[in-house]
Amino acid sequence: MPTPLQPAVSDLIANWINPDIQAMIAYHVPAATGLIKLDAMENPYIWPASMRAEWVKIISQIDVNRYPDPEAAALKIKLRQEFAIPNNLELLLGNGSDELIQILLLAVGGNDHIVLSIEPSFVMYRLIANWTRIKYVGVPLKQPDFTLDINAILTAIKQLKPALIFLAYPNNPTGNLFPSELIHQIIREAPGLVVIDEAYAAFANASFIDEIATYNNLLVLRTLSKMGLAGLRLGYLIGTKDWIEQLAKIRMPYNINILTQVSAEFALHCKDILDAQTKLIVAERGRLLQYLSRLPQLTVYTSAANFILFRVPRSELVMENLKAAGILIKNLHGSHPVLDNCLRVTVGTPEENYKFLTEMQKICTNRS
Ligand SMILES: *Cc1c(COP(=O)(O)O)cnc(C)c1O
Repeated sequence: MPTPLQPAVSDLIANWINPDIQAMIAYHVPAATGLIKLDAMENPYIWPASMRAEWVKIISQIDVNRYPDPEAAALKIKLRQEFAIPNNLELLLGNGSDELIQILLLAVGGNDHIVLSIEPSFVMYRLIANWTRIKYVGVPLKQPDFTLDINAILTAIKQLKPALIFLAYPNNPTGNLFPSELIHQIIREAPGLVVIDEAYAAFANASFIDEIATYNNLLVLRTLSKMGLAGLRLGYLIGTKDWIEQLAKIRMPYNINILTQVSAEFALHCKDILDAQTKLIVAERGRLLQYLSRLPQLTVYTSAANFILFRVPRSELVMENLKAAGILIKNLHGSHPVLDNCLRVTVGTPEENYKFLTEMQKICTNRS
């Protein structure tokens, strides 16, 4: 029992936790138990039983009393092989690409350095910049189609001289793939680092990996999360040796745990299965786009990723109706002014998508 002489926890927090952190609202992940989960860009497919059985055998050989390989050498070899990463480039692995975003921000922070991105984009750029106390500036995308405002970006680059620019390619939550010429232009004009975040590369067939050799200031960020391994938490950053060497200094030793190292290596050994799932998702994306576009109340945005952004008359009402039907998608209303009444649905299995579309059709018919 606390003694009366102790200060109250609330006073201790007020005195000692950084005021910026006290003012923050924690990142919230909604409960999804029992719902069809179409809110988080996960691959909806589980592994075939034979693959699962083989994996369990491998996992059962692991000795968890020992620290994992700090370099995750075997996994890196497999990543290089499966994603055709040239030998003259190095890899930095992260506990999800979120951790690599944090490493990048920690590495460039200080000296009033600024980090730049576009808005709306992946929220973790801004959140982690706040956590690491680096000034973040977001240049708005153009309306109505969320295209890059290249003039505004180039002006911001000139004025702010950002130490680091994040560009999601394709972008989340808008789903579009920006024209590569514009990205080239940004890389050329940027005084500091440009990180192209290719979290959705598997669904887009576009990459800047081959450009890393051309530009001294370019890094490419990837993750296994969206291609079916979200639970393992593995991201990788690709760049030249000199950059990776600097960033690796602030990576936690053993940041990739043994289960992730072994499981990811095994999963990549079965990459044809994951690739087949990706193909199904891309085909379903086309079908979802086509059917959603037929509902006259919606504005549907085209997508090069595994999710679709669309605008409805009243997003809260649609969310409630979907939830009552057992379906969870993401409400982006309130996250940014240009996303008023916007919803984002992750492409699921054909059965899940059918249920979602049927409900959307019902909602639209009832409310029109
Ligand atoms: C999902 C996502 C990530 C984060 O991926 P993790 O590897 O799961 O941390 C990074 N960037 C973008 C653009 C994303 O949408």
